[in-house]
Amino acid sequence: MLLFCAVVVFPGRGQFKSDVIETTGGDLEIFFVGHGTLMFSFQGKVIHIDPTMGEADYSTMPDADLILITHQHGDHLDPKAIDQLLKDGTRVVMTRACKEQVKELDAIVMDNGDVETIQGVGIEAIPAYNIQHVRPDGNPFHPKGEGNGYILSFGTTRVLIGGDTENTPELKELKGPIEVAFLPMNLPYTMTPEMVADAARAIQPGILYPYHFGNTDPQKLVKLLEDEKGIEVRIRALE
Ligand code: ZN
Ligand code: ZN
Repeated sequence: MLLFCAVVVFPGRGQFKSDVIETTGGDLEIFFVGHGTLMFSFQGKVIHIDPTMGEADYSTMPDADLILITHQHGDHLDPKAIDQLLKDGTRVVMTRACKEQVKELDAIVMDNGDVETIQGVGIEAIPAYNIQHVRPDGNPFHPKGEGNGYILSFGTTRVLIGGDTENTPELKELKGPIEVAFLPMNLPYTMTPEMVADAARAIQPGILYPYHFGNTDPQKLVKLLEDEKGIEVRIRALE
């Protein structure tokens, strides 16, 4: 009997909801782990974005071919989760401030503006920072130059991972089409629904996932963008 041979088992499937996106390089499956944390499967490779033990037990998750960390805050950089995912050949991409916290880890530092191709995926590091939302002492929650967003190219299909950011000029002036965008919406650290809508109108992604949205009601974003027929807003469990 072939009953057990017909199914390719991919840990994470079943545990987390996923969407399959057609790219020019083949299917990209995106798993919605939670908050700012995602897992991608593409061409047999596993890519983890900001894996943290707060969102999943990474001892049960598939090992990584590529790990991307947007910035050093605890809901994005978790050395314990990274440890669980390492195998021979895992490549880890992170910011300079992250690297300072995990000096012993063999990781590639990408600064804002850096471009690389790693594990067959194009990676462009873009700025992620606050303009309006600041701490009581006046310093932004995310100072400019410290954190990354990433534009990932699967074939020529581009997926934007915003990181913890506002609707910055750099985000609104991105060159070239973005098919899928993840933009953060929890307050006071990132964007209001109005700021996400403003960024989305400029970027015009085919699919927009609000993520890292905490207690912000994602339906507000749906309402704000109801006239933007080219943007499909998808709400997933990414509080
Ligand atoms: Zn942050
Ligand atoms: Zn965050």
